[in-house]
Amino acid sequence: MAIERVGIVGAGQMGNGIAHVFAVAGYDVLLTDISADALAAALAQIDRNLERQVSRELITAETKAQAMRRIASTQTLTDLGDSDLIIEAATERETIKAAIFEDLLPHLKPETILTSNTSSISITRLASRTDRPERFMGFHFMNPVPIMQLVELIRGIATDEPTFRACQQVVERLGKTSTASEDFPGFIVNRILMPMINEAIYTLYEGVGSVQSIDTSLKLGANHPMGPLELADFIGLDTCLAIMNVLHDGLADTKYRPCPLLTKYVEAGWLGRKTQRGFYDYRGETPVPTR
Ligand code: NAD
Repeated sequence: MAIERVGIVGAGQMGNGIAHVFAVAGYDVLLTDISADALAAALAQIDRNLERQVSRELITAETKAQAMRRIASTQTLTDLGDSDLIIEAATERETIKAAIFEDLLPHLKPETILTSNTSSISITRLASRTDRPERFMGFHFMNPVPIMQLVELIRGIATDEPTFRACQQVVERLGKTSTASEDFPGFIVNRILMPMINEAIYTLYEGVGSVQSIDTSLKLGANHPMGPLELADFIGLDTCLAIMNVLHDGLADTKYRPCPLLTKYVEAGWLGRKTQRGFYDYRGETPVPTR
């Protein structure tokens, strides 16, 4: 089935980036959110991000204008019924996602592919509650979507090959690269990245090194573009803790236990860049390590 019309549920941080890259690739996009403010903010953000791409000569002004024309928005979820592909990118809560699929299902064409951008919820479990587990899979973008090259494609236990191939082709048309992952906690990126970040926090907690030493060591010693603690602040420490809990609970191995220092930062409300304080304090001109 040709995929031309894409419905995106959730117009937050990820949803607006997903709408952006689909529209630039020439898809017709219908973006929905329960919040009118979120929809308005998403459209304004897409406009700003496209404008930045024009000023850096990555796209032309005409491409930007065409992309903006291809994006429509609605607060009515069932308006997405005509979509060939749905990407659900709403709040990371299983009850919310399950309710969205339940409301949407009676309005979809039988061939519509359903996907979720979830970072941590089981694709197989979400799929099992729909009428089409074979046409359901994970479509996991990285943040910020317009910049990051990777899309992890996750097969649920029932996902069929034509569905997987169709999504692979979509990723190609977006100009991005896909990897294939089976449906286990953290998929590939977070399964490897989060334990490394958690270990960096243990290294700090045990006094092996300071924030500065740990980040400099990994930047200069392992050629990482960002240090692990700097990266944790960028992702959000609450998100890092939530993902460690998913790995710990889902894989039932103590090697995934979240570092108590990570829990302490989250309890303090020091969540990283978004609250201006995490392993660094961002309130001044340059970030200052907090330990
Ligand atoms: P966000 O909080 O920025 O946005 C979520 C949006 O969903 C909000 O605008 C909210 O109003 C909307 N929403 C909530 N309930 C809804 C409903 N019933 N119908 C329609 N819209 C609804 O969150 P985000 O960071 O964009 O994350 C969205 C999804 O993407 C999550 O599943 C998350 O795990 C995943 N994800 C996030 C990142 C990241 O770095 N933030 C990376 C990869 C994947």
